[in-house]
Amino acid sequence: MTTTPPGYVVPAPNADTREFWEGCKAHQFRVQRCQNCGTFRHYPRPACHQCASFDTEWVDIGGGGVVYSFTIARHPFHPAFRDKTPYAILVVEMDDAPGVRMASNMVDCPVDDVRIGMPVEVVWEDLSDEVTLYKFRPLNR
Ligand code: ZN
Repeated sequence: MTTTPPGYVVPAPNADTREFWEGCKAHQFRVQRCQNCGTFRHYPRPACHQCASFDTEWVDIGGGGVVYSFTIARHPFHPAFRDKTPYAILVVEMDDAPGVRMASNMVDCPVDDVRIGMPVEVVWEDLSDEVTLYKFRPLNR
């Protein structure tokens, strides 16, 4: 068993988010879909924001999307990010889950090359046996 590297800020799964983070450990992007009206949602929460139903299923939506918005972090907001700036923070509209937008960092791409509408795909960063983070990289379509 490995442990999370020191200095990392890691998620703390709860009853609502545990399935999402377990999916990340399995390298699957799992989001909730309402079983009453079919609406996808993320962040994880107990009820549908469209119809208020509690009937929910988890589905793997794949890892493709396009950059909906982004910003460049040039100053670290936490000491763990001191040697990682500048980096791009993306909001990605997911291809296979209409209405779902995921936020994370871009990797394998100079920050000045990031553009709205850019196709991206998820990459997994296994920090330890307990924690896997998701990030995005450019996809050449
Ligand atoms: Zn619904």
